[in-house]
Amino acid sequence: MLFAPASCPRLIVKIGSALLVDGGGGVRRGWLAGITADIAARARAGQQVAVVSSGAIALGAGRLGLAKGGRASLEDAQAAAAVGQIALSQVWAEVLAAEGLTAAQMLVTLGDLEDRRRYLNAAATLDRLLSLGVVPVINENDSVATAEIRFGDNDRLAARVAQAAAAQGVVLLSDVDGLFDRNPADPAARRIDRVERIDAAIEAMADTRSASGMGSGGMVSKIAAARIANAAGAHLAIASGQIDRPLSTPAPHTLFVAEKSAPARKAWLAGGLTARGTIHIDAGAARALKDGASLLAAGAIRLEGDFSRGDPVAIAGPDGTMARGLAEYDADDARRLLGCRSEEHAALLGYAPRTALVHRNHMALI
Ligand code: GLU
Repeated sequence: MLFAPASCPRLIVKIGSALLVDGGGGVRRGWLAGITADIAARARAGQQVAVVSSGAIALGAGRLGLAKGGRASLEDAQAAAAVGQIALSQVWAEVLAAEGLTAAQMLVTLGDLEDRRRYLNAAATLDRLLSLGVVPVINENDSVATAEIRFGDNDRLAARVAQAAAAQGVVLLSDVDGLFDRNPADPAARRIDRVERIDAAIEAMADTRSASGMGSGGMVSKIAAARIANAAGAHLAIASGQIDRPLSTPAPHTLFVAEKSAPARKAWLAGGLTARGTIHIDAGAARALKDGASLLAAGAIRLEGDFSRGDPVAIAGPDGTMARGLAEYDADDARRLLGCRSEEHAALLGYAPRTALVHRNHMALI
């Protein structure tokens, strides 16, 4: 089984427009019921699954009768997305509920995931939803994103979501069943089963077109997604969704293997940026951090510096600097929480608190 729950506690499944929407602009309910059954089986086996679902533009275009699948202009695409998204989330909520699962909708833009403050918000929401057993259904917020701040394709969005959720695997389901060494229409074309490193030869195999003409992702965006996911420590598979139960039926695919070194994001946290402050912690908290825990305010003794939420900070234990991470609070608010237990935080701050001063997903030990 691709990305079995035991080796992949968190999985991101990206579903292309052509799988969800038929040529007449209707939802492919039978197929959707199949993949939802797959997701439910994985959830029962303990895997946390988030779905990145395309299809808003295609669905909306069908309902509005727009030409070129709603992609004739940015305005058309944005209007189609607004109409289609509400239908898409309703369908997901229904099919997941039929399997006893709760759906959540998250609409994000590139800007949301590039800005550190907003990235932390999105990551925290995603983490909480997944740990509550809810299935987040994520799409780009197409109706507000302008050309400059759009992902444009959900392949890269899925990879960024994997990074934010610290997932171990990403499956890109579409109408292609992998990366081929030349145009797949050529009878001599051969699928590449496994890619250990994305080099110039691999890039050269990509073809810019989306085969269905419905979505916007082609092989170029899939390889860009693989690069992001692999650098963040997640494996990525390009697999065909043109079978009924694509997450439980063995089928040929291309697997892009995650980088073995520390994920790039952690490396970036560990060395890349100048810390804007230092949080000093006690011996107990230092031990907890080494065991992979988040930094809780109860274990923090003192703060130096003036940082804002999302800024990189150093964390110093009794033996010196031991980690770096992104601050979950502005320095002034963090100071108020020093040494205090989580139950006290809401009263001290006057607003709903974060779970940690620095979350483990945004921290690297050094
Ligand atoms: N966000 C677009 C939609 O919902 C899909 C983008 C893509 O084709 O990858 O229609």
